[in-house]
Amino acid sequence: MSTNPFLRQHILIGSEWCDADNRAQLEVTNPASGEVIGTVPDAGAEETRRAIHTAHETFQTYRHSGAEERAALLRRMHALMLEHREELAQLLTLEQGKPLAEARGEITIGANYLLWFAEEARRAGGEVIASNSPARRSFAMRSPVGVVGAITPWNFPSSMLARKIGPAIAAGCTAVIKPAEKTPYSALAWGVIAEQAGVPAGVINIVTGQPQAIGKELTSNPLVRKLTFTGSTAVGKTLLAQCADTVKKVSMELGGNAPFIVFDDADLDRAIEGAMIAKYRNSGQTCVCTNRFLVQAGIHDAFVDKLVTASKALKVGAGTEDQVEQGPLIDEAAVNKVESLLDDARTQGASIATGGARHERGGTWFEPTVVTGAKASMRIASEEIFGPVAVVYRFEDEAEAVDLANATEYGLACYVYTKDVSRAFRITDALEYGMVGINEGLITAVEAPFGGVKHSGVGVEGGRLGIEEYLDVKYACFGGLDT
Ligand code: ADP
Repeated sequence: MSTNPFLRQHILIGSEWCDADNRAQLEVTNPASGEVIGTVPDAGAEETRRAIHTAHETFQTYRHSGAEERAALLRRMHALMLEHREELAQLLTLEQGKPLAEARGEITIGANYLLWFAEEARRAGGEVIASNSPARRSFAMRSPVGVVGAITPWNFPSSMLARKIGPAIAAGCTAVIKPAEKTPYSALAWGVIAEQAGVPAGVINIVTGQPQAIGKELTSNPLVRKLTFTGSTAVGKTLLAQCADTVKKVSMELGGNAPFIVFDDADLDRAIEGAMIAKYRNSGQTCVCTNRFLVQAGIHDAFVDKLVTASKALKVGAGTEDQVEQGPLIDEAAVNKVESLLDDARTQGASIATGGARHERGGTWFEPTVVTGAKASMRIASEEIFGPVAVVYRFEDEAEAVDLANATEYGLACYVYTKDVSRAFRITDALEYGMVGINEGLITAVEAPFGGVKHSGVGVEGGRLGIEEYLDVKYACFGGLDT
């Protein structure tokens, strides 16, 4: 491991890789083996404040860089990511546990976000407004918001940052990043990539350590003009409240409770293929993972049969083993949560069609599981499972499916399988979600806006709108002109 050229065990402030002020460290473990991979500094408010000051100083010059210059930085970062995809994927699997094939995919999509934002950097222009008088000329101009605070989760420790670093660099912002404690190395690797690409020191700063202390500084420091967060709804609400005092621009990518609706007229094999991706990717630990399969009565039993067969066939193991499709869960707490949700469902009359227990490998592996006979009253219907558990509910008609799907405070992703085009449009209108996959189980794409409604978040990442979150609009009115 020590040979991985992207492994850094220090925080990055400006051009300095440093320790925490008090030299305290946090251990980082491999979820597949429980072994300690290394340490990172257990930094807090003081180091974060220094990083913010550095980012602010750097912003004074970086804001005036040219769009092509910023696009070129991102293109170089993109190329470096692809050139070093294997080492970066190995590092990601080592700390996060996902199968290497998925880790390679995550590095690739992260790189592609950078390329997308390199292109968007060139197009982030403003607007000439038709003035109400010939003696006036009016413009909507754009300028970078300033220092961005970015807090990211452990489930996509590399690509979640690509969506934040990409538009920040493209727009001319500087950033202070706080990765999740469990997966700091993929974030610190961004510091190495930025250095190698020639990104000016101080544009990207990375602080690892105490979530509350770092989060408090990022949200209360007036020099930070925007906070972008991906993580749980509970923490997102806390951060939103903390940002209120300094009225920051915010983007929040929070939790989900994705329904996956299968109508009688669906292409069953295609639905199963989509179901496997939308449920089991990253062992069920994504915010867009299906939390509830809503299946129409006429196709219910056939769908369950095929889902059980496909779930049993999944190869479970360490992400570094050949052909593995299901890695371990991130930690013991994740397994305990899955177990307690299943206990509650069983008590309320649900049946386990396959799996339902810890995997014989031990550790934090859990058997791919299919649950039938689920009801809306069960905890598993309203809480994020974040594990390899497919829960199937039966419905009779379209109206009931829409009601069930919308009966949640969340509104991130949802999926619908039907061959009826009219129904597809009708239900897309009716579903209160930020993203809808019609006959598609994997819809994340760099060119599309990713984001939720209701308690799932504020703002979008990626797509044409992704850079807007990093730009302020300035209306300029030039008056008294001789005509
Ligand atoms: P998850 O359940 O996916 O771990 P969290 O919302 O707990 O989601 O964590 C997402 C990120 O938020 C991580 O980087 C974590 O360290 C950070 N975090 C957790 N609590 C706080 C907090 N009070 N303030 C700032 N960041 C926090």
